[in-house]
Amino acid sequence: MLTDVEIAQQTKMEPIAEVAAKLGLSDDDLELYGKYKAKVSLDTLKKVENNENGKLVLVTAINPTPAGEGKTTTMIGLSQALNLMGKKSVVAMREPSLGPCFGIKGGAAGGGYAQVVPMEDINLHFTGDIHAITTANNLIAAMLDNSIQQGNPLDIDVRRIVWKRCVDLNDRALRKIVIGMGGKMNGVPREDGFDISVASEVMAILCLATSLEDLKERAGRMIVAYSRSGNPVTVNDIHATGAVTLLLKDAIKPNLVQTLDHTPVFVHGGPFANIAHGCNSVMATRLAMKLGDYAITEAGFGADLGAEKFLDIKCRQAGLKPDAVVIVATIRALKMHGGVDKKDLSEENLEALKNGIENLRKHIENINKYGLPSVVAINAFPTDTQAELELLKEICEKDGAKVAISEVWAKGGEGGLELAETLLDVLENEESHYHPIYDLDLSIEEKIKTIASEIYGAKDVAFTKKAKTALRTLTKQGLDHLPICVAKTQYSLSDDASLLGRPEGFTVTINDLIPNTGAGFIVAISGSIMRMPGLPKDPAANHMDINEDGTIVGLF
Ligand code: ADP
Ligand code: MG
Repeated sequence: MLTDVEIAQQTKMEPIAEVAAKLGLSDDDLELYGKYKAKVSLDTLKKVENNENGKLVLVTAINPTPAGEGKTTTMIGLSQALNLMGKKSVVAMREPSLGPCFGIKGGAAGGGYAQVVPMEDINLHFTGDIHAITTANNLIAAMLDNSIQQGNPLDIDVRRIVWKRCVDLNDRALRKIVIGMGGKMNGVPREDGFDISVASEVMAILCLATSLEDLKERAGRMIVAYSRSGNPVTVNDIHATGAVTLLLKDAIKPNLVQTLDHTPVFVHGGPFANIAHGCNSVMATRLAMKLGDYAITEAGFGADLGAEKFLDIKCRQAGLKPDAVVIVATIRALKMHGGVDKKDLSEENLEALKNGIENLRKHIENINKYGLPSVVAINAFPTDTQAELELLKEICEKDGAKVAISEVWAKGGEGGLELAETLLDVLENEESHYHPIYDLDLSIEEKIKTIASEIYGAKDVAFTKKAKTALRTLTKQGLDHLPICVAKTQYSLSDDASLLGRPEGFTVTINDLIPNTGAGFIVAISGSIMRMPGLPKDPAANHMDINEDGTIVGLF
């Protein structure tokens, strides 16, 4: 069996201008980054503003296993299938981070015969957007420390600096550091730390911005520290807003690439789905809707995190109205939810599968609560048995859920025809009555309780002393109208990673609340959330190389 990178290397890509032409874009609309990548100019975004909107379809999943459940693969394959059927479908997806790429997960440009190319570039430096985000973030850090060095006119409390430096790698040694050592001319000593770039608020604002002006306003509002009297200090206060926006002037433009079938894909922005909202940029999603009849997009992790944030934060803020949701499920993850150990997932186990389906049921119910029709996509793996696939399909159908087996990983667009047909049928016959799950004018506490009870199925929410203090402060600061971005484990519907399936009667604990005023949400921290992952014992990077002739190996 060929690896992803080998399959990608066998593909003869089309020049990106030809791919763009399929969307009615000409050379004037593009800024070329070599032959196979381009950015779409901001003028073009304005030009198509009044085009009719295509249908917006979100691809999400059940609570995942550590390897991911194939959302990205399914999304790409679904779009390939729609195009095979003669439909104009465009993908809008996230750009992979280098951290997971060199760590455990490997790349994130799809898999098998459902991939976007050039996958080597997309998984590595691509068009430099994450570099720009990292630099913008670190310019803010440098200007903040310089303000303290130059007499501290804003009276910044060095014990209450909330802005971290960032790098787009998994580097646990940088989580907690001390900076400014070495005397008077080398800065003011203080505790600091690094986050991974994709967990930074700069990434979040780039993805939620609707224009360069909006990006600038969001950048200026971000809180970097508190003064000794307790007032927030913003990017505006340290006079970094203009320079930060300048550094992001190209990163804000959506990137165009192609699937293995040469159908158009926008890859733009890639915030984490735990600490941030986990969706690609609003600008790329809108562009896909304006240029395609079907815009297929994805949100990170399971539907309790990714879809919840897509529907309650991104769509609400950007005024997007989704039409349908595809919920990806795999036999192996459902068996894990049904109690099977990770090492035994390749063996047939119908009983465990039956029990594990409870997790899927909850996610189907949740999407329904948002007023949206859904389709279950069973992402077929080589280890699945026919009996398992049939049982899952049968139970879904008995529940009244729309369901299709997807073989896009093994067969590309051809393997997604059943899914595409099922989706088209749903889009044709079921109406979207999309609405967020909570109103913004509820209190912060009530908003969190609504998400926990309605979406997670929790009995109650507990707020620690620290979280209660934060509740009061945020309310006093007038920030209680913002939506909530919950940071919790992706493996469980609860905040306890070991509670698989469909847990009940549990309490979610909120440890802290952090305002992300630029992004326009309040992060509610549940459990200990990793903003800087570490590398495993045998990182993917151990197996990567480039040969003398330029052939890349081991990218996965
Ligand atoms: P997600 O977007 O949910 O995190 P991905 O689509 O990135 O998941 O897939 C995770 C990994 O699993 C990738 O390496 C991909 O190649 C692999 N994969 C996805 N679907 C299948 C499948 N049906 N069979 C085998 N491997 C798959
Ligand atoms: Mg993915």
